[in-house]
Amino acid sequence: MERTRWIFAGQLGDSFDDGGRMLLVESRAALRRAPLHRAKAHLILSAIRHRAAELGDRVEFHQVEHYRDVVEGRDDLEVVDPTSYAARRLVRSVGATVLPSRGFVTSEADFAEWADARKGRPIMEDFYRWVRGRTGILQDGDAPAGGQWNFDHENRQPPPKRALTLGLPEPWWPEEDDIDRGVRADLDRWQAAGEVTLVGDDGPRRFSATTGEARLALDDFIESRLGDFGPFEDATLTGDWTMAHSLLSAPLNLGLLDPREVIDRVEAEYRAGKAPIGSVEGIVRQLCGWRDWVWHLYWRLGEDYVNSNALAATEPIPRAVLELEASAIEANCLSQTIGGVREHGWAHHIQRLMIIGNWALQRGYDPKQMNEWFIGMFVDGTPWVMPANVVGMSLFADGGIVGTKPYAAGGAYVNRMTDYCGGCRFDPKVRLGPNACPVTAGYWAFLDRVEPQIRGNFRMAQPLAGLRRLSDREQVVDQERRRTAL
Ligand SMILES: Cc1cc2nc3c(=O)[nH]c(=O)nc-3n(C[C@H](O)[C@H](O)[C@H](O)COP(=O)(O)OP(=O)(O)OC[C@H]3O[C@@H](n4cnc5c(N)ncnc54)[C@H](O)[C@@H]3O)c2cc1C
Ligand code: SF4
Repeated sequence: MERTRWIFAGQLGDSFDDGGRMLLVESRAALRRAPLHRAKAHLILSAIRHRAAELGDRVEFHQVEHYRDVVEGRDDLEVVDPTSYAARRLVRSVGATVLPSRGFVTSEADFAEWADARKGRPIMEDFYRWVRGRTGILQDGDAPAGGQWNFDHENRQPPPKRALTLGLPEPWWPEEDDIDRGVRADLDRWQAAGEVTLVGDDGPRRFSATTGEARLALDDFIESRLGDFGPFEDATLTGDWTMAHSLLSAPLNLGLLDPREVIDRVEAEYRAGKAPIGSVEGIVRQLCGWRDWVWHLYWRLGEDYVNSNALAATEPIPRAVLELEASAIEANCLSQTIGGVREHGWAHHIQRLMIIGNWALQRGYDPKQMNEWFIGMFVDGTPWVMPANVVGMSLFADGGIVGTKPYAAGGAYVNRMTDYCGGCRFDPKVRLGPNACPVTAGYWAFLDRVEPQIRGNFRMAQPLAGLRRLSDREQVVDQERRRTAL
């Protein structure tokens, strides 16, 4: 019997197509997550419909309420193992033949081999070096290209002083077509009928919906931004929402672009003497280190990991964050970042980790709710990418599996790495009184709250010693307990 390859929204590129018949299902139920960013709903539907159009006669394309409406009772289906627990349960429950997953540099079997061979807590840096050695990516024989594994001393600079932007050319943007317009009309209709709850601004679409577009975005990154990626990887400027980032996470997570293709292209630039090793190593680390790492941890740590709550954080996410009401937020760093998410359904890594994540960590927002919120608000958000990034790295809710200490920072960090504080009504150096910075004071109030849980963590010994020396500890804690405005 001829097999039919059933593909999901994370499998829309050529690497999930081995020829033959295909099945693609647009499920309305999948859009009912509330709240969901409009840009994300638009991107996913646009990518699905573009793929259906590309595959033409080779694909059975269904627009239905539930996947089961189409796949139940069929015995011809095969599927590349999908990317969430729920989808894996579904494909198995309908008896589809399951092929090993794709779309990452290393397989699940590779990771198991690496993880099972070591004792103690798995460490990303060890995994990353193992992947480099095993694949030969950016290697000169057994040695790392450029003589070092890590170029952090060249990378991670603060933004250039008094600059409004990095001065790079405007990134390449896709042009919307009739498919995009059709998706937008559907979203409008469904929203008016109360069938979906969308937040965030509408269009234009900024992220690739086809492999062709993703390759143009990759070309543009290599040509215009790769050289500055490393040095400004951790920097933030109010007037430059993309900085030198690649903007490739959405097409990668939709399966439109294979990470190996991106890695091979950036490595070729280095080998041709056209890109500095610091930037090239920086992006390779993100792709075959971090991206594969959080993917494997999703499976390794289990479905229940999202319920971790080691710091007993139970505050609900306030409405201004939940619904992206940037104008209701006083703290300029948070307001600008939430405003960016509202506009684009995207923010760069440091805005996610050190602005939103740090704020949520300090204020004790519920980790599971934050995990869901990130999935709904970000164009590149998927169930597999969030737990290690949100529950683990940002909120330390796992008590030290993904990171060794909470990524907590005060206003001094924000002031060094961004230009937000200059435009803020608070002062990052002040922790008490009307100008007290909520991030600086929030840092001390956070340490005060979680002291019992982190006392045994030797990496927190110094911050906790600082807390004990604070002459106004009680007042700061009390002030932050009473702070209601964001
Ligand atoms: C709280 C939080 C939430 C995040 N949410 C997502 C998300 O929803 N989807 C997502 O793909 N990434 C997420 N990340 C990781 C990272 O922030 C984004 O991949 C990146 O900002 C996307 O922009 P870019 O494509 O321009 O990335 P670049 O800065 O150009 O990096 C290149 C690529 O590396 C990969 N990458 C880098 N860091 C990570 C990481 N920690 N985890 C996984 N992949 C990584 C991405 O594929 C990215 O496209 C999150 C990180 C944090 C701390
Ligand atoms: S002063 Fe504090 S609240 Fe304002 S932008 Fe700086 S860190 Fe954020």
